[in-house]
Amino acid sequence: MQDKFIPYGRQTISDDDIAAVTEVLQSSWLTTGPMVERFESCFCDFSEADYAVAVSNGTASLHCAMAAADIQLGDEVIVPAMTFVATANSVVYQGATPVFADIEADTLLINASKISDLITPKTKAIAAVDYAGQPADYDAIKAIADSHGLTVVADASHAPGGTYKDRPVGTLADLTTFSFHPVKHLTTGEGGMITTNDAKKAETMRRFRNHGINSDHRSRATSRTFVYDMIELGFNYRLNDIQCALGITQLNQLGDWVSKRQKIATLYDQAFQDMAHVSPLVTRPDRTNAYHLYVIRLSGSKGYRERAYEQLQEKRIGVNVHYLPVHLHSFYADQFGYGQGLCPVAESVYEEILTLPMYPLMSDEDVQRVIEEVGLLEDLA
Ligand SMILES: *Cc1c(COP(=O)(O)O)cnc(C)c1O
Repeated sequence: MQDKFIPYGRQTISDDDIAAVTEVLQSSWLTTGPMVERFESCFCDFSEADYAVAVSNGTASLHCAMAAADIQLGDEVIVPAMTFVATANSVVYQGATPVFADIEADTLLINASKISDLITPKTKAIAAVDYAGQPADYDAIKAIADSHGLTVVADASHAPGGTYKDRPVGTLADLTTFSFHPVKHLTTGEGGMITTNDAKKAETMRRFRNHGINSDHRSRATSRTFVYDMIELGFNYRLNDIQCALGITQLNQLGDWVSKRQKIATLYDQAFQDMAHVSPLVTRPDRTNAYHLYVIRLSGSKGYRERAYEQLQEKRIGVNVHYLPVHLHSFYADQFGYGQGLCPVAESVYEEILTLPMYPLMSDEDVQRVIEEVGLLEDLA
C-alpha cells in the first residue's frame, strides 16, 4: 500500500464554519451585508488595530495598501527579493517600480541595513514581508522610513498571530495586509484584509475596494437614497458575506492553530539539531513566529535541493519551495531589466531552501515520518 500523501499545507474546516456559512446562505445578504463589518470588527479585536478593511484576496489587500500609501506612476517601493510575486506586483499595478532589497540568510527577512542605500527621491514606501510567519525588524524599518518620510507596508500574509517585541502583527506598520487563501493560517476560500490605525487610509481603501464609489449598497438602502458618486478609480475587491462569516469562525480558532504550528516547529527544530545537512531558519528572540511555513536550508553539492525535493515527493511528502526571488521572474527581467546579481543572498539561499509540511491537522505520526525522511536526505548531499 502506498503511504498517505502529506501536503505542505492545508485548511481546517469545522462544523462551526459550515454552520456559519449555511446561515448566511439562508439570509437576505450574500454580499455587502452585516457579516463584512462583523468580520472587520473581530479582526480589529484580534490584531489590536483601529481599522480593518476586508477584501477579495491577499493580492487585492496589497493593491489597496499601495493605493492608500498613495503610490503612483513613477514612484519606487522597496520590496524584499524573497517573497511571493504579489508583493511586488501590487507596486506595478500602481505604475510604480519595485526596488528589490536583499535578505538576511538566517531568517530570509528583508535586511534592514540594506534599505538606506536603495532610497532615491522617487522612493515612497517600504514593503516588508513577514516571511514564513516571523515579523520583520519593524523598529529598524520604521526608523529608516521616518527619517525619509516613507510609508511602511507589512505583507503579513504569513504571520497572523505573530508578535514583535510583544506587539501583535497588524499594528507594526502603517498598513498591514493579510491573505485568507486555503494554505494560509485562516481561510475564506479566497480573501484578504488590511489593518491600519489611520482613519483616512481606511476610508480610501473602503472606496478602492468598491470602484472608488463613496458609499455602498447597504448604506444607500439604509439612508434611502439612490445617489452615489465615483470620486476616483477603484476596483471590485469586495469580500462577500458568505466568506466573512467563514472568516469569523476561522478567526476564533486561530490561537489554537498557531499553537499547533509552533508545537510542530519545536519538534522539527529538536530533530534537526542533530542533522548536519539541515539548517532550520532562525527566529529572533524578540519575536514570536506564527509559522505559516517551516523552511529548512540544505547544505550539500550542486543540485542537492532538487534531488531532495524529488526524493521527498517520491516518498509522498509534499515539500515545496518558497520562493524563487521575484527579480528572477521573466516579467521583472523583461520590464525592469533585473537579473542575477541584484540580490546575491536571496539568489544563493534560494538554491538551498525547502518548505516542509506544516498545518494544524498534521498528526505527530506525520511529523515523525517527515523527520525520518529528511534524515535520509543526508545520503544525497
Ligand atoms: C499568499 C500571499 C500573497 C497573496 O495572497 P492571495 O490571497 O493568494 O492573493 C501575498 N503575499 C504573500 C507573501 C503571500 O504568501
